[in-house]
Amino acid sequence: MIQLNDIKKVGSKTIKLLNKLDIYSVNDLLEYYPFRYDLIRRSNINELKNNDPVIIDGVIENVPIINRYGKRKDRMTFRINTNTKLLNISIFNRGFMHHNLVPGKVVTIIGKYDILHNTIVASDIRFGEIGEDHIEGVYHTTSGISSKQIKSFVDEALKMDIQVEDYIPSIYQERYHFCDKKTAIKNIHNPKLPIDLKKARLRMKYEELFVFMLKINMLKHNKSNKLGLSREVDVDKVKDFIAGLPFELTKDQLKCSKEIYLDLISEKRMNRLVQGDVGSGKTVVSIISMYINYLSGYQSALMAPTEILAIQHYHNLLNMFKDYDIKIELLTGKLKNKERKQVLEDLKEGNIDIIVGTHALISEDVEYNNLGLVITDEQHRFGVNQRANLRNKGITPDILYMSATPIPRTYALTLYGDMDVSNIRTMPNGRKPIITILRRSNEIRDVLERMYKELKNNHQIYVVAPLIEESLESSLENVKSLEEKMNKAFGKKYKVGVLHGKQDNDTKDKIMNNFKDNKIQILISTTVVEVGVDVANATMMVIFDAYRFGLSSIHQLRGRVGRNSLQSYCILISDKEAERLNVLVSTNDGFKVSEEDFKLRGSGDLFGIRQSGDMQFKVADLRKDFNILLKAKDDSLEYLRSIDYAKDLKIVNLMTNSSNLD
Ligand code: ADP
Ligand code: MG
Repeated sequence: MIQLNDIKKVGSKTIKLLNKLDIYSVNDLLEYYPFRYDLIRRSNINELKNNDPVIIDGVIENVPIINRYGKRKDRMTFRINTNTKLLNISIFNRGFMHHNLVPGKVVTIIGKYDILHNTIVASDIRFGEIGEDHIEGVYHTTSGISSKQIKSFVDEALKMDIQVEDYIPSIYQERYHFCDKKTAIKNIHNPKLPIDLKKARLRMKYEELFVFMLKINMLKHNKSNKLGLSREVDVDKVKDFIAGLPFELTKDQLKCSKEIYLDLISEKRMNRLVQGDVGSGKTVVSIISMYINYLSGYQSALMAPTEILAIQHYHNLLNMFKDYDIKIELLTGKLKNKERKQVLEDLKEGNIDIIVGTHALISEDVEYNNLGLVITDEQHRFGVNQRANLRNKGITPDILYMSATPIPRTYALTLYGDMDVSNIRTMPNGRKPIITILRRSNEIRDVLERMYKELKNNHQIYVVAPLIEESLESSLENVKSLEEKMNKAFGKKYKVGVLHGKQDNDTKDKIMNNFKDNKIQILISTTVVEVGVDVANATMMVIFDAYRFGLSSIHQLRGRVGRNSLQSYCILISDKEAERLNVLVSTNDGFKVSEEDFKLRGSGDLFGIRQSGDMQFKVADLRKDFNILLKAKDDSLEYLRSIDYAKDLKIVNLMTNSSNLD
């Protein structure tokens, strides 16, 4: 097999750099597509206006002059002759190139034209002529390797005889007149004409989406998924439990609980998603499900995306089941070895009825006695689906997902193909809609006054500083400067607490508990509080630099307030993107917000794709290519009906290589 180091000029050092770009094989390299294309076309210098971008070639006229200044900075100047004109070239910090820039040599200059000084301020100098006008791919790079180098490696690889697996069945190749995959790959890297590029990309998009839908649809067909557990449940006991709850269920909570009950007692394996806005009361539905599961003699596992949330669920469960003889345990990373061992032992022996934790509950070495129900809270955080993990363990419990990020209907139907969906649309009685206000940073006085008003009424406030992804340090700085600001404004009378990602779990718990107990009135955090945390006395959420967040994320955040009959507020502070943020001012409906978000930002944030490798498409974009997705969906279904796919080796490989989609 041809490997990376078979490519000219690729040695172990380069391979390390390529690895950084997730390129581990020649095939990875071939599928490392340009993220943008430049049209390389000789400029006609006589038609250019000031500051126009130029690409032009010419012969070097004189030995370059280098001016050095500052630390390792330089400016190099020389002249070129373009046949029609003499032009000055000026380029910064390329002094090291001067040995190669000898008079008489032909170079191509890329840069901007300064008409007044008859000068091109160059960004790049290349050797040799431009050649014909062409389209040139530009690749994402990492320090130590340039787009040009990547391009040369790709070009070398394209010359080699490399096998690429083509997943589009021939009937669809013909139906859509697709070119073969190798040609498509060639054209994506080196398109001769824009139309070639378009065709090549379309073909690759289709293939990605076809494979994706094939996997989803195969799950649907997979019989082993459908065999559920058999249960006998005394329905009166369930009714009594519901009647004993501290509040009356909303209509949708009841409906949803009933759907789950029917799923659980049926022979079919449950695979259900409960979608409901933040605060709609999904937790109690999950509690009822666990009770039903308990009555039929099985263990339940409740998984939360963070430890803070797991702990909160745990205490909530202890409280809800305090009059019942149900054994509940918490499995988190901070258990001491001995305690952990004991919990694992008890789980295996069947001494625990309900276990609460993060998703480590199924991915680690945890053995169950008779696991009957797995509940994943805020499931969009985990990626699409996690059944494979369980199936590998040979257990087939019923599965319930809870999500506060509603997925637009059409998308949900496609992506969650084999999932049943329950919606909780009604909010618990007495809830007042949250009032959302948008302010600019120079209106901070107004914000502080509003905060003061809430504090005076003995209410509490969340303050959110955006997490700056690339730089943990500047995030911390953000948080610190906010802490100072808040202390300056309110510190005399009120206590300010800070929660951020760098703290250890103990510290986080302590701060969270202090906030819960109203020992802290203002809690500043990055998005740690985004999901699930429940402090009913908090009535205001202030979000700084709100433009940095997706609409759905903010919607989640503001769901932390408005948790009882008190009027709650969300204040967005932003000097940018007012139009987008105004969506949140105008509606409290999570479905509407997510539709808008989806339109604006694509699927990425919505599905938590960063966590789910299988939805990382190289060329396809779920938002823009939805029509192709629909085609791919129909075709994959048709295809599955037409073949015995258990014997189709390509598909078998596909499925075994990608268990995490399941
Ligand atoms: P989410 O759907 O965001 O997970 P929770 O389940 O945390 O929402 O519920 C939010 C709050 O509403 C909790 O404090 C919960 O006790 C309360 N709650 C849930 N259902 C009802 C109801 N039917 N009536 C009154 N309060 C409710
Ligand atoms: Mg919840």
